[in-house]
Amino acid sequence: MELLKKARELGIYTAYNINVDAIVYLKGEHVESLIKEFGESAVRKRMDEYPREVNEPLDFVARLILALKTGKPMAVPLVNEELHTWFDSRFKYDVERMGGQAGIISNLLANLDFRRVIVYSPIMAEKQARMFVNRPNLLYPVVEDGRLVFKHPGEAYRENDPIKINRIFEFRKGMKFKLGSELVEVPFSGRFILSSRFESIKIETEDELRPFLPEIGEAVDGAILSGYQGIKLRYSDGKDVNYYLKRAKEDIMLLKRNKNIKVHLEFASIQNRELRKKVIYNLFPLVDSVGMDESEIAHVLNTLGYSQLADRIFTYNRIEDTVLGGKILIDEMNLEILQIHTIYYIMYVTHRDNPLSEEELRSSLEVATTLAAARAKLGSIKKPEDFREGLTVPYNERGEFVKLRFEEAKRRTREYKVVIIPTRLVKNPVSTVGLGDTISAGAFTSYLALLREKGAL
Ligand code: AMP
Repeated sequence: MELLKKARELGIYTAYNINVDAIVYLKGEHVESLIKEFGESAVRKRMDEYPREVNEPLDFVARLILALKTGKPMAVPLVNEELHTWFDSRFKYDVERMGGQAGIISNLLANLDFRRVIVYSPIMAEKQARMFVNRPNLLYPVVEDGRLVFKHPGEAYRENDPIKINRIFEFRKGMKFKLGSELVEVPFSGRFILSSRFESIKIETEDELRPFLPEIGEAVDGAILSGYQGIKLRYSDGKDVNYYLKRAKEDIMLLKRNKNIKVHLEFASIQNRELRKKVIYNLFPLVDSVGMDESEIAHVLNTLGYSQLADRIFTYNRIEDTVLGGKILIDEMNLEILQIHTIYYIMYVTHRDNPLSEEELRSSLEVATTLAAARAKLGSIKKPEDFREGLTVPYNERGEFVKLRFEEAKRRTREYKVVIIPTRLVKNPVSTVGLGDTISAGAFTSYLALLREKGAL
C-alpha cells in the first residue's frame, strides 16, 4: 500500500489503443449450437488448419474451440467487416465496457488517484469517450489555436470518429460441451478475444498533435505504449507497416526529447509473424521496459531465432527456460527491464547494474499481483482502497513450487537480476479481461516510483 501511494504521485501517458469490449459469458450450449451449425468434421478440419485470422464464421468457431480445449487466453483478429451481422445475430452481449490496453490502464490509474493520467488514441467517438471514468486527473490531449490543451475525454470526442468493437468470449473452468463424441471440459477460466482490424482504425499520433509530444513527455514521468498488434501489413492508400512503425519510433523519441522519461511497451499477442518480428526489432530497442504474458515470450524467442528454446517453453512451461529466454531478450534488445506474467508467477529480469535491489524489484511485483487480484475479485478497481481486497487473496497453491524452481534457476544468474513471485490467484474471478494490463501498469508504475525514490528517474 505504501509503494502504491508513492506510485500515485506520478504522471503517466498512455496510448494508443482504446476500444469497446462487448463481452459474452460463454456457455456450453453456445458452443454446441455452433458445432451443430457447421458440423463436427468441418470444425475439426478447420481446427487442424489453425486459421491465424477470422475471415469467415468457421475460422472463429475453430479458434474458439482450440482456446476452450487448452483453457489458454487467446486473441485472434477479425478482418472481415461483414461478419458483424453474423456475430450480432448469434450472440447477445452481456456487458459493454472499456477495452484496449490504453483504455483499461488509463481508467485504472485514474481510479487509483494517480497525479495525472494522459490518455491518447487517434479515434475518440462519443460512445467510446463515455466509457472513461469521470475523474479530474484523466486527460486527453487536444490542439486548440495552435496550442496543447488537456480535456477530459468526455469533452473531447469527435462526432464522426469510428468505434472499434472487440468481442470477448469469457469462459469458465469446468464448462463442458460435446464435440462429436468427445466431451470437452475447459481446464482454466479465461477469455477468447476477437479483435476488429479495420483500415479506419490506425495506430498513430495524428499530425496535428505530433509536434506536441515533447511537451506531453515533460508533463509526465513515464509512458505506457501498446496497440501495435493493430497495425496492418498494408493499407489501401499504399501505406504499410513500415510507414506506421517509423512513426511509432519517432513518437517514442519525441516523448523522450525534452525529458528522459521511461517508456514501457506492453506487448500483446501478434498472430502475424512478419508484423511480430518488425514490432520487436523496431520498437524494443527504443523502450526501457517491456511486459508480456506467458504465451508471448515463446513466440518472441522463436522470432529472434531461438526456436528450440521456444519449443521447450511451449511444451514444458519450465521456469528456468523462461528465465533463460528473458535474459536473452534483455541482452539482445538492450532492455532495462523485462516483465513476464503467467498464471502462476510474475517475473522481472534486469541487468545486474539495475539501480533497484532484488528486494525492491520484488515489492514492485507484489503491487502488480495484488492489484490484479483485486480486479479479478471485484471486477474493477474504483478507488485506491480497493487494493486492500487484493491483499486478502492468497498466493496460488503452486507458490512454494515456484519459489523452489526459481532458487534452482537463480544459481546461474550472476550477470542479471531475476526476481519471481507467485501470483495471488482468485478462485472465481468476476472477469479475467484486463488482468495482464493491470499487472503491467502496477509493475511499471511502482518500478518508476522506486527509481524516483533513489534519484534514478
Ligand atoms: P493476460 O493474459 O495478459 O491478460 O494476463 C493474465 C494474467 O492475469 C495472468 O498471467 C495472471 O498473472 C493474472 N490472472 C489470471 N487469472 C487470475 C485470477 N483468477 N486471479 C488473479 N490473477 C489472475
